[in-house]
Amino acid sequence: MSAAPPAASSAPSPVALRLAEVEAAIARACRDAGRPAEAVKLIAVSKTFDAEAIRPALAAGHRRFGENRVQEAKAKWPELKAEYPDAELHLIGPLQTNKVREALALFDVIHTLDRPSLAKELAKEIARADGKAPRLMVQVNTGEEPQKAGVAPLEADAFIRMCREDYGLPVEGLMCIPPAEEPAAPHFALLSTIARRNGLATLSMGMSGDYETAVALGATHVRVGSAIFGGRPPIPAG
Ligand SMILES: *Cc1c(COP(=O)(O)O)cnc(C)c1O
Repeated sequence: MSAAPPAASSAPSPVALRLAEVEAAIARACRDAGRPAEAVKLIAVSKTFDAEAIRPALAAGHRRFGENRVQEAKAKWPELKAEYPDAELHLIGPLQTNKVREALALFDVIHTLDRPSLAKELAKEIARADGKAPRLMVQVNTGEEPQKAGVAPLEADAFIRMCREDYGLPVEGLMCIPPAEEPAAPHFALLSTIARRNGLATLSMGMSGDYETAVALGATHVRVGSAIFGGRPPIPAG
């Protein structure tokens, strides 16, 4: 005789538990920084995880998710959004101009506006969609890494102005991904300085390893993946 199976349906899933832990850590970091807990929004980064792996987070009540590829998001999110129409999807990876139309159909927020050709295409496709625009953030390459997307810090002010004035884009904030091998704090501080002088209130910064530091330095959105969903397979080289 085998033992009765555990009551899996009533036990919280590992994803739900880790989500609650991250939310609690954000609340603590907010309290330590003298910020209200509602000041920081958690984006659960579900890239590489399939719909089945994401469902426990939705079932636990989480609604804000991040994906880094349009094609991957297109394969799993229409189904999930049909079940959870109030789920909010954030694009946190590079956007090719030929994917802008698809991205506008899927994503509520785009964090990776980083070049004039993309600004132009976004403006064109937003007009085509009768003005229905996503929320937009400009990605800044704070570490000036050649392989990384984002505008250079010294070019950020002019690029933000161009997006707003020449293309009428509703830029609301900035996003950065600090160099992996450096302390993140100076990069978060730089992003905050650029945002302040441009009158931008939204700061998308902080990942699994450094989101508490980001909260201390003013993040309004943290993008946390592996601390919630577990490790991802390594990205193939090349
Ligand atoms: C993958 C990714 C994240 C989440 O990274 P973790 O270290 O797993 O939390 C955050 N931001 C961007 C842009 C990403 O591509």
